[in-house]
Amino acid sequence: MPGDLIDRLRRFRDEYFPLHEGHFRDLVEKGQRPSILFIGCSDSRIVPHLLTGTGPGELFLVRNVAAIVPPYDGSSGYHGTCAAIEFAVLNLDVHEIVVCGHSHCGGIRALYEEIPAAAVNLRNWLELAREAALPIQPTNEALRRTEQRSIVLQLERLMNYPMVRERVEAGKLFLHGWYYVIEDGEVQVFDLRSGRFIPVSDPAPP
Ligand SMILES: [Zn+2]
Repeated sequence: MPGDLIDRLRRFRDEYFPLHEGHFRDLVEKGQRPSILFIGCSDSRIVPHLLTGTGPGELFLVRNVAAIVPPYDGSSGYHGTCAAIEFAVLNLDVHEIVVCGHSHCGGIRALYEEIPAAAVNLRNWLELAREAALPIQPTNEALRRTEQRSIVLQLERLMNYPMVRERVEAGKLFLHGWYYVIEDGEVQVFDLRSGRFIPVSDPAPP
């Protein structure tokens, strides 16, 4: 392992941990009780805790290429994302699920590109977002729209998970679609009524 990573681990242990030791011990003694399941892209530029100002114990995280929710029916094979969704809803009883896509997503862009033959798993995986792709040239505008359409598609898929649908319909669980615009430092939130993504900096409608 590179030496600088080891140095960072030591710094965590020696500098960060002593300041927060009580909190970590609490999280072990009482167990985790996060209220939010965050489904995000694996992209290194997405830092969920930084974005949401959260720390240990607050977000149950699932990350994969392009922030995809596989179909509930198991047709995409053994899948960790499905297992994590079931665990978060049934065992942790989360109250919110966030699907967070982002601008300049390589996974979404790959829907319009040739994927190397050796990347058989990646190719199959991205097919789960194929429905979001547009039958046009991948201009910047088309890519931004595809990224947003994919978030909506994943929210729809979530509603096919029986334990999700049941709780959403009972008003016990809320789904959120977020579009993180990296270059603007802003999240746009999917508004079900208008079908649009609204920047969080916009004033709330009256
Ligand atoms: Zn991405």
